[in-house]
Amino acid sequence: MPTTPEPSEACEPDAASAPADPRCGLVAIVGRPNVGKSTLLNALVGQKISITSRKAQTTRHRILGVCTEGDTQFVFLDTPGFQTRHGAALNRVLNRSVRGVLADVDLVLFVVEAGKFGPADEDVLRLLQSPQAAGKPVVLVANKLDTIRRRADLAPWLQRMAARFPFAEFVPLSAERADDARRLLGIVAPHLPRQPWMYEPDALTDRSERFLAAEIVREKLFRFMGDELPYTSTVVIDRFTEEGERREIDATIVVERDAHKGMVIGAGGERLKRIGTEARLELERLLGTRVQLTLWVQVRSGWADDEAHLRSYGYE
Ligand code: GDP
Ligand code: MG
Repeated sequence: MPTTPEPSEACEPDAASAPADPRCGLVAIVGRPNVGKSTLLNALVGQKISITSRKAQTTRHRILGVCTEGDTQFVFLDTPGFQTRHGAALNRVLNRSVRGVLADVDLVLFVVEAGKFGPADEDVLRLLQSPQAAGKPVVLVANKLDTIRRRADLAPWLQRMAARFPFAEFVPLSAERADDARRLLGIVAPHLPRQPWMYEPDALTDRSERFLAAEIVREKLFRFMGDELPYTSTVVIDRFTEEGERREIDATIVVERDAHKGMVIGAGGERLKRIGTEARLELERLLGTRVQLTLWVQVRSGWADDEAHLRSYGYE
């Protein structure tokens, strides 16, 4: 099983109260799948609130992470990867949600892989030229700098990127490094408006425990399934109850075909058991409570093609 390094925090919650003249801004993290958006958000916010994976497109929900550093509060919106491969209603919903995010933000972090710029990156950059994003500062984050052997090789690439779009800043970095993430915050801060903080200084996310539970089950599902399971699978929380220091959670993994159901359950139910155990342990760590997690698997074919259906699962 692939492991995820524990994220280290770029942003240490500041116990002090709000400064006299605070800054606060909404920041979108956009980029094609697999460039490291979730890794970056985790490094910035220091909590595993957005799931990472070697597979593309595990983040379908808009995830909010909050980070307060010095006099500035950064409110990060993770966006679903710009979808180009799958053609169903799911894509329309996802692209609409990216545009919705762009209309609301103060600044955009456009994440690409350092030294690379392909057609999928170009599609995302085109979204940034849409009316919703017009005039907003866009910072080019050239991620995976560690994969570039000689930094001097990057200079001509950066020049070409500057010719493509009037980026506000150019920041080559490795999203996996906390000090790089901290440096990025320092570069972004002056671009954010002076206005009161929206959240408590120690806030990390406004997502509910229920939402986090679905995200974590989904992450484990994709990690244990490798490439076997299509991205059209999802997780629905059927029941979430709090009893003192204990949570009782029933969740259903929804798949499109009978064959997928068998793969998720595994021989003798072994795989579903492992998914459930890993998800429960992570939830217990995250919530600081005991968790009883019951998982079910259900087949609902064609759900990814049905927009009304998607809305009922919480996709906007
Ligand atoms: P997303 O789809 O844009 O959210 O990308 P993820 O954050 O899930 O990352 C995709 C893959 O890139 C994962 O395997 C990450 O471990 C890897 N990755 C992210 N940041 C870096 C980095 O700075 N350097 C290297 N070498 N790999 C990275
Ligand atoms: Mg992601």
